[in-house]
Amino acid sequence: MKDIVVFYTWIAFGHLMPMVELAKLLSKQGMSVTVVIVDFIKNSSSFTSKTISRLSVANPTISFHVIPPATELGEGIDHVFKIIQEANAPLSYLLKSISETCSVCAVVLDFFCTFALDVARQLDIPAYLFYTSGAYDLAMNIYFPTLDKNLDNSIVEIGNRLLHVPGLPPIPGSHLPDHMHQRNSLVYNTFINIYQRFVQHDGILVNTFESLEKKAIEALKAGLCFPGGYTPPVYCIGPLITVPEKKEEERHESLVWLDMQPRKSVVFLSFGSMGSFSEQQLREIATGLENSGQRFLWVVRSPTVTNPLKKLDPQDKPDLQAILPEGFIDRTKDRGMVVKQWAPQVEVLNHESVGAFVTHCGWNSILEATMAGVPMICWPMYAEQKLNKIYLVEEMKVAVEMKGYDEDIVVAKEVEDKVKLIMESEESKVIRERMETMREKAVDALREGGSSHTALEDFLKAVRMDGVPC
Ligand code: UDP
Repeated sequence: MKDIVVFYTWIAFGHLMPMVELAKLLSKQGMSVTVVIVDFIKNSSSFTSKTISRLSVANPTISFHVIPPATELGEGIDHVFKIIQEANAPLSYLLKSISETCSVCAVVLDFFCTFALDVARQLDIPAYLFYTSGAYDLAMNIYFPTLDKNLDNSIVEIGNRLLHVPGLPPIPGSHLPDHMHQRNSLVYNTFINIYQRFVQHDGILVNTFESLEKKAIEALKAGLCFPGGYTPPVYCIGPLITVPEKKEEERHESLVWLDMQPRKSVVFLSFGSMGSFSEQQLREIATGLENSGQRFLWVVRSPTVTNPLKKLDPQDKPDLQAILPEGFIDRTKDRGMVVKQWAPQVEVLNHESVGAFVTHCGWNSILEATMAGVPMICWPMYAEQKLNKIYLVEEMKVAVEMKGYDEDIVVAKEVEDKVKLIMESEESKVIRERMETMREKAVDALREGGSSHTALEDFLKAVRMDGVPC
């Protein structure tokens, strides 16, 4: 009976893609792998089916399985959790049926899917957590239930007062994700419950590498983030990045355009799989870019105020002529390109014409910029991105902050100034050098004998030892 590892995640690009990368690594080691994905849109949306069929074709050794949602996705993150919780029953059924022909030696759970820990325990299958954000954020979240017990107020009342977390510099309360601001809300309590589950796994895999987040990783491994309890082994196995294999004739128009630009001359602006701005903000960015005089490649999504999760299946493309300042596209056509909705970010960042990256500070984007050695301008938008910004700007010093990101609007002058700073200033040369050093360290970590390579081997040993024959 063959051994199999089952990976379990949900249909969000920044969670699914690193999970597939991890599955690929195990498959290369000769293990059988299945990736199970919880969908959010009933009657399988075109987005999901296209994504899964693309992944299946690109990864013939991996089998993919989609669990459709039991109910329709509503507004708010609590609906996401409801759908994932409801998926426990079909997951259990699936694992049982796989166990009829294979020995399921482990399940690897995305951190939004830790409800499935109950299923793994019932079936006596070892369960590992895969953390697709960084160790910095993981340390904060494992420590958060302890912090919560010691806090007198909700985070929103704490404001800019500093929070002290092992392995992290003091963090202003305002830099925690919005969903953690209001104590005892349904979402807050659900997150506390999820955070408490992290340490209940048999091990925690993190998409990071030792020298990137040294202090936080040390604190996690020393058990400082879960005082009085047991922290399972932490395996830092990243950076796991999806590098698409494409034929020359399939190259995206943005890459063809980049081919014609001078080396390191273009600032790239992209805000993750869900980031979008109001029309007013888009116009400020456009004016700032125009006044900066720099070359740019800008990914623009439709302005929207609706549920960001629904943007996972984008239907409408922005009408650029209507949204952007009159004549902007014409006036900047010799030095700028605006792409609707999506650009092949990894390939763009690795293109030699790209000199800087304006990012929303999603963890995958940070790792991709690190592997490409591209300095950043931070414009955090949601989730743990403000925390990531502190790390990039204050600890690593490989980025600058776009002021006003946490106010109503970032004004055009700020966009202009920061773009000029990162592209032209003396300060930016030092930042660029630091980024290059970090890139080299990332490459070293992934080499045979490097910290991430060794951590993956340790994880594989643990999985093979724990495996329960069925
Ligand atoms: N991405 C992309 N093109 C885009 C926008 C995003 O390829 O136009 C990819 C990006 O390379 C990254 C992922 O989408 O791998 C976004 O993940 P991240 O963790 O940065 O942000 P999230 O979308 O989870 O907020």
